[in-house]
Amino acid sequence: MTQPPAKLGESDLQIYRTLLLNKKAELQVALETSSLRLAETREKAGARPDQILQEASVSVLMNRVLFGQLRQVAEALDRLEAGDYGYCVTCGDPIEAKRLQSVFWTQYCLVCREKESSSHSMEKIGVGGVVYAHHSQGATVRM
Ligand SMILES: [Zn+2]
Repeated sequence: MTQPPAKLGESDLQIYRTLLLNKKAELQVALETSSLRLAETREKAGARPDQILQEASVSVLMNRVLFGQLRQVAEALDRLEAGDYGYCVTCGDPIEAKRLQSVFWTQYCLVCREKESSSHSMEKIGVGGVVYAHHSQGATVRM
Protein backbone atom coordinates (compact mmCIF):
# COMPACT_ATOMS: atom_id res chain seq x y z
CA MET A 1 0.00 0.00 0.00
CA THR A 2 1.28 3.41 -0.84
CA GLN A 3 1.09 6.23 1.62
CA PRO A 4 -1.42 8.87 0.46
CA PRO A 5 0.11 12.35 0.29
CA ALA A 6 -1.04 14.45 3.22
CA LYS A 7 -1.25 17.75 1.42
CA LEU A 8 -0.34 17.10 -2.16
CA GLY A 9 -3.18 16.24 -4.47
CA GLU A 10 -2.80 14.78 -7.94
CA SER A 11 -2.87 18.25 -9.50
CA ASP A 12 -0.15 19.47 -7.12
CA LEU A 13 2.01 16.48 -7.97
CA GLN A 14 1.50 17.19 -11.64
CA ILE A 15 2.76 20.74 -11.13
CA TYR A 16 5.81 19.56 -9.19
CA ARG A 17 6.52 16.90 -11.79
CA THR A 18 6.54 19.56 -14.50
CA LEU A 19 8.75 21.84 -12.41
CA LEU A 20 11.20 19.02 -11.75
CA LEU A 21 11.30 17.91 -15.37
CA ASN A 22 11.93 21.49 -16.50
CA LYS A 23 14.67 21.91 -13.93
CA LYS A 24 16.21 18.60 -14.97
CA ALA A 25 16.28 19.67 -18.62
CA GLU A 26 17.72 23.05 -17.65
CA LEU A 27 20.49 21.42 -15.62
CA GLN A 28 21.30 18.96 -18.40
CA VAL A 29 21.75 21.83 -20.84
CA ALA A 30 23.88 23.74 -18.34
CA LEU A 31 25.99 20.65 -17.74
CA GLU A 32 26.46 20.16 -21.45
CA THR A 33 27.43 23.79 -21.95
CA SER A 34 29.85 23.62 -19.07
CA SER A 35 31.48 20.45 -20.43
CA LEU A 36 31.74 22.03 -23.84
CA ARG A 37 33.40 25.10 -22.37
CA LEU A 38 35.85 22.87 -20.57
CA ALA A 39 36.78 21.11 -23.80
CA GLU A 40 37.19 24.45 -25.55
CA THR A 41 39.41 25.74 -22.79
CA ARG A 42 41.63 22.71 -23.09
CA GLU A 43 41.92 23.16 -26.83
CA LYS A 44 42.58 26.87 -26.67
CA ALA A 45 45.91 27.35 -28.35
CA GLY A 46 48.10 30.24 -27.35
CA ALA A 47 46.53 30.79 -23.97
CA ARG A 48 48.78 30.80 -20.97
CA PRO A 49 48.95 27.41 -19.27
CA ASP A 50 48.16 28.81 -15.83
CA GLN A 51 45.13 30.57 -17.27
CA ILE A 52 43.89 27.36 -18.88
CA LEU A 53 44.38 25.56 -15.60
CA GLN A 54 42.38 28.16 -13.73
CA GLU A 55 39.54 28.16 -16.25
CA ALA A 56 39.51 24.38 -16.34
CA SER A 57 39.31 24.05 -12.58
CA VAL A 58 36.39 26.47 -12.47
CA SER A 59 34.62 24.44 -15.17
CA VAL A 60 35.27 21.19 -13.35
CA LEU A 61 33.88 22.62 -10.14
CA MET A 62 30.85 23.94 -12.00
CA ASN A 63 30.29 20.51 -13.53
CA ARG A 64 30.38 18.87 -10.14
CA VAL A 65 27.93 21.40 -8.73
CA LEU A 66 25.56 20.92 -11.66
CA PHE A 67 25.86 17.17 -11.45
CA GLY A 68 25.02 17.23 -7.76
CA GLN A 69 21.96 19.37 -8.43
CA LEU A 70 20.87 17.17 -11.30
CA ARG A 71 21.06 14.20 -8.97
CA GLN A 72 18.87 15.92 -6.39
CA VAL A 73 16.27 16.71 -9.03
CA ALA A 74 16.38 13.16 -10.40
CA GLU A 75 15.94 11.75 -6.91
CA ALA A 76 12.99 14.05 -6.29
CA LEU A 77 11.38 12.73 -9.49
CA ASP A 78 11.99 9.16 -8.30
CA ARG A 79 10.31 9.94 -5.00
CA LEU A 80 7.43 11.54 -6.84
CA GLU A 81 6.89 8.41 -8.91
CA ALA A 82 7.18 6.26 -5.80
CA GLY A 83 4.61 8.35 -3.93
CA ASP A 84 7.11 9.57 -1.33
CA TYR A 85 7.40 13.07 -2.69
CA GLY A 86 6.79 15.89 -0.24
CA TYR A 87 7.90 13.90 2.78
CA CYS A 88 11.11 14.45 4.68
CA VAL A 89 13.46 11.50 4.15
CA THR A 90 14.84 11.91 7.65
CA CYS A 91 11.81 12.29 9.93
CA GLY A 92 9.00 11.32 7.55
CA ASP A 93 6.96 14.45 8.21
CA PRO A 94 5.36 16.31 5.30
CA ILE A 95 7.64 19.06 4.05
CA GLU A 96 6.24 22.57 4.54
CA ALA A 97 4.23 23.59 1.46
CA LYS A 98 5.89 26.99 1.25
CA ARG A 99 9.31 25.40 1.36
CA LEU A 100 8.38 22.84 -1.27
CA GLN A 101 7.22 25.60 -3.58
CA SER A 102 10.59 27.35 -3.52
CA VAL A 103 12.91 24.34 -3.22
CA PHE A 104 10.81 21.67 -4.90
CA TRP A 105 13.74 19.24 -5.19
CA THR A 106 14.34 19.14 -1.46
CA GLN A 107 14.15 15.93 0.52
CA TYR A 108 14.23 17.47 3.98
CA CYS A 109 11.77 19.42 6.08
CA LEU A 110 13.02 22.70 7.48
CA VAL A 111 13.96 21.23 10.86
CA CYS A 112 16.05 18.41 9.39
CA ARG A 113 17.47 20.77 6.80
CA GLU A 114 18.80 22.99 9.59
CA LYS A 115 20.41 19.97 11.22
CA GLU A 116 21.89 18.80 7.95
CA SER A 117 23.00 22.20 6.75
CA SER A 118 26.62 21.58 7.63
CA SER A 119 26.88 18.56 5.35
CA HIS A 120 24.40 19.55 2.65
CA SER A 121 25.31 23.04 1.69
CA MET A 122 24.08 23.25 -1.85
CA GLU A 123 20.37 23.37 -2.04
CA LYS A 124 19.76 26.55 -3.92
CA ILE A 125 19.53 26.08 -7.63
CA GLY A 126 19.73 29.27 -9.61
CA VAL A 127 16.93 30.73 -11.63
CA GLY A 128 17.32 31.81 -15.24
CA GLY A 129 20.51 29.98 -15.99
CA VAL A 130 22.46 31.42 -13.07
CA VAL A 131 23.64 28.87 -10.60
CA TYR A 132 24.12 29.82 -7.00
CA ALA A 133 26.08 27.35 -4.98
CA HIS A 134 26.40 27.75 -1.28
CA HIS A 135 29.49 26.19 0.11
CA SER A 136 29.59 26.31 3.85
CA GLN A 137 33.01 24.80 4.04
CA GLY A 138 35.21 24.24 1.03
CA ALA A 139 33.84 22.75 -2.13
CA THR A 140 32.42 19.50 -0.95
CA VAL A 141 29.97 18.08 -3.44
CA ARG A 142 27.93 15.06 -2.48
CA MET A 143 28.10 12.56 -5.31
ZN1 LIG B 1 12.42 16.17 8.73
